[in-house]
Amino acid sequence: MADKKQKETKEDITFFHPDIFETPENAPPFLKGYKCKKCGKIWFPKFVPCPNPDCWSEEMEVVALSRRGKIYSYTDVYIGQPTMRSYMPMTMAYVDLPEGVRVFSQLEGEVGSFRCDEEVELVAGPVRNNLDGKPITGYKFKKISS
Ligand SMILES: [Zn+2]
Repeated sequence: MADKKQKETKEDITFFHPDIFETPENAPPFLKGYKCKKCGKIWFPKFVPCPNPDCWSEEMEVVALSRRGKIYSYTDVYIGQPTMRSYMPMTMAYVDLPEGVRVFSQLEGEVGSFRCDEEVELVAGPVRNNLDGKPITGYKFKKISS
C-alpha cells in the first residue's frame, strides 16, 4: 500500500524510444547507431535490413554514436501539436555526426541563437508531454558550454 502511494507521487516520465537512445546512470546519454556487420555502414535510427542497395544484410550491431556533431540545417518552430505547445517556440535541426549519420533533433536553447556548422552536444531532457501532460524524456542537442 505504501509502495503504491509512493509510486503515485513520483513524477511520471516516459522514455522517448529505447531503440534509439540510452541514458546510462553513471555516464552521459548517447544515441544508438546500427552498424551493418556486412558493409560497415552505420544507420540511425534502426534499419533492418541494411538500406544499402548492395547489401541488405540483416545483421546489425549497436554502436554508441558520437555525442557531438555540427548543425547541418535548422528551423525555428512557433506552432506545434498540443503535446509540444509548452515547449514552443523551439528550434529543430539536422545534426551531422562524425559517423556520417544525420540526426533530426530538437535543439535546447534560445530560438534564433543557432547557426549552421555550429558544434552541438547531445543531452537528455523533456522534448514533449504525454497526453496526461507529463514530460517525455528524449534526446536533443545544445550549445557546447566551454
Ligand atoms: Zn550493409
